[in-house]
This record gives sequence, structure tokens and C-alpha cells, in this order.
Amino acid sequence: MFRKILLVLIGLLLLPGTMLAGELQIIDKPIQWSAQREQLIREYAQTHYGMDMVYIVPQAIVVHWTAGNTWESAYQHFYQEARSDGTLNVASQFLVSRDGTVFRLTPETALDRHIIGYNWCAIGIENVGGVNGAEDLTAKQLEANVKLICYLQEKYPTIRYVFGHYQQDAARSSGLYREKVAGYRSEKIDPGRSFMAALQARLQGRELVFYPE
Ligand SMILES: [Zn+2]
Repeated sequence: MFRKILLVLIGLLLLPGTMLAGELQIIDKPIQWSAQREQLIREYAQTHYGMDMVYIVPQAIVVHWTAGNTWESAYQHFYQEARSDGTLNVASQFLVSRDGTVFRLTPETALDRHIIGYNWCAIGIENVGGVNGAEDLTAKQLEANVKLICYLQEKYPTIRYVFGHYQQDAARSSGLYREKVAGYRSEKIDPGRSFMAALQARLQGRELVFYPE
């Protein structure tokens, strides 16, 4: 009898954990981070924003696709600290594989180089897919992005904007865009309109600003 009660008590204690099984899980998979990365981040922030910083206060979440087939290739692409020109390599805080696995590549508030004009205040989520511009991100990636954005919004109440990389110009109405280097920009289509529309629909009512187009 006592044993049975004990089992019930253990079961109740485990229940929250069981419920969490359906919630967001993040796997830490750090890319290279030494004093050199911090130095390169400082140089990037100084050159492009005129700011002295390594860590950000997140105000926006920017959603991307990798234009590649595997999370491993994206991880390798982001791994090094420097590009061949000696500047900070591209990276994002999160990488979501085709099956919806969420990898955390850097500290959540690290300044990572993933979108011109907004790196000083934006957390990036890279989704594996979009090869040749195909809008092929998966339902599991959508679920993972919804959970990840909810998690980030709850953890960082300063976050207000969610936009796709291709919406970088529309998002200037947020007032967050900053860039000191004249003419520094690139055309983007990631992560596709259908994915952003689906994200917006799923995150209705969460007091996040999206962009319609
Ligand atoms: Zn992108």
C-alpha cells in the first residue's frame, strides 16, 4: 500500500516533466567562440553600428532559411569565427533542422551576423531548407519556430518584432535599422512568404509585430 502511494507521488512529481516533453527542447551545439570572436564582434559593431558591444538587448527575431540541405552543412558554414576577409563570420543564435530539432549555436544574446542593419538588436533563427529558393520548410520547423519564438518572447520582454529576412526593408518602419556603411545591403527571399504567413497566423494575439508582405 505504502509502495503504491509512493509510486503515485513519484508519478505526480514526474508529470510536469512529462508535459514538458511536448514543449520546446533546445540542444546546445556551440560554434567556435574564443576571444577572437568577441574581438570580431566588437569590430563589426563598431564599423556598422558605431556601437561598442558583444551582447545585444533583443528587440526583434529574424527568421531565415539556410539555402542548404542539412543542418550539419549550415553548422560548418557558421562554425569559424572569421571570414576570409578577416571580418566576423556569419552565424545565427539558433538553427532548426528539417525535423524541427532546435540547436543553439551561440549565447542567445550574442551579437551574431545574420542580417544587415539589425544584428545589434535581433536574434536569428536559421531553418534548414530553401535550396534554389524553394519554399519547402517543413511543418515540424514551423512548430519549432512557434515554440522558440514564444520561449524567446517570454524570456526577453523587449522583443516586439518578428520578420523574415526578405522583409528587411519593410521592417525599417520599426525604427531598428542601423547601418553606417553606405550601400551595404543584399537582396533576400528567405524564409519565403508562406512560412512567414503561417508563423504570423500561429502567433496571433501574442503582441508581436509582423509585416504583411
Ligand atoms: Zn537570411
